[in-house]
Amino acid sequence: MQDLTEGVARFQRDVYPAKADLFAHLAATHRPTTLFISCSDARVVPELITQSEPGELFVIRTAGNLVPAYTPGPDGVAASIEYAVAVLNVTDIVVCGHSACGAMTALAERHDLSGAPAIADWLRHADASRARATGEGGAPKVDALVRENVRAQLANLATHPSVARALAADTVTLHGWVYDIPAGTVDELDELDATGRPAAVAA
Ligand SMILES: [Zn+2]
Repeated sequence: MQDLTEGVARFQRDVYPAKADLFAHLAATHRPTTLFISCSDARVVPELITQSEPGELFVIRTAGNLVPAYTPGPDGVAASIEYAVAVLNVTDIVVCGHSACGAMTALAERHDLSGAPAIADWLRHADASRARATGEGGAPKVDALVRENVRAQLANLATHPSVARALAADTVTLHGWVYDIPAGTVDELDELDATGRPAAVAA
């Protein structure tokens, strides 16, 4: 915790003054252009990877960058998506998976999650991801599952009414990314249609 308080002190002393104009502008302005959905994994830092400034990314982070398909009812992820798309009018949505994802590893390697029921339940939102990544008879490789999970979560995203409306009006574009931690690279999946499949395949 001491690291954090020292970090705050350093931020106030060194970082904030250098961006004082930006923070003054942001005090009354919130106009991000991108909704960025990534894993909660501590090694995935959206602003660092994309070199974005404060105010540029509206970020949702969940275990496994999972986006539950829309169902009516109170849902924090759904509310955040609706706010970004219908109120803030973001023009782009990125779903970003990453290498060595603990959630995808647990699924690919069928870890025993009986002692972690909340995680087990949450990972059910990746059932379609696993189905897409599993070859005949075999267990999916983690890397393949990470990629298919990005596609599956983009498809889930499109079930949210605000996203469906924006896609129909052509005011938002969906992007699937995979971040490789040891290489520092970002692999952009093929152009995606509203279902999260490559546009060329869907055509
Ligand atoms: Zn992860």
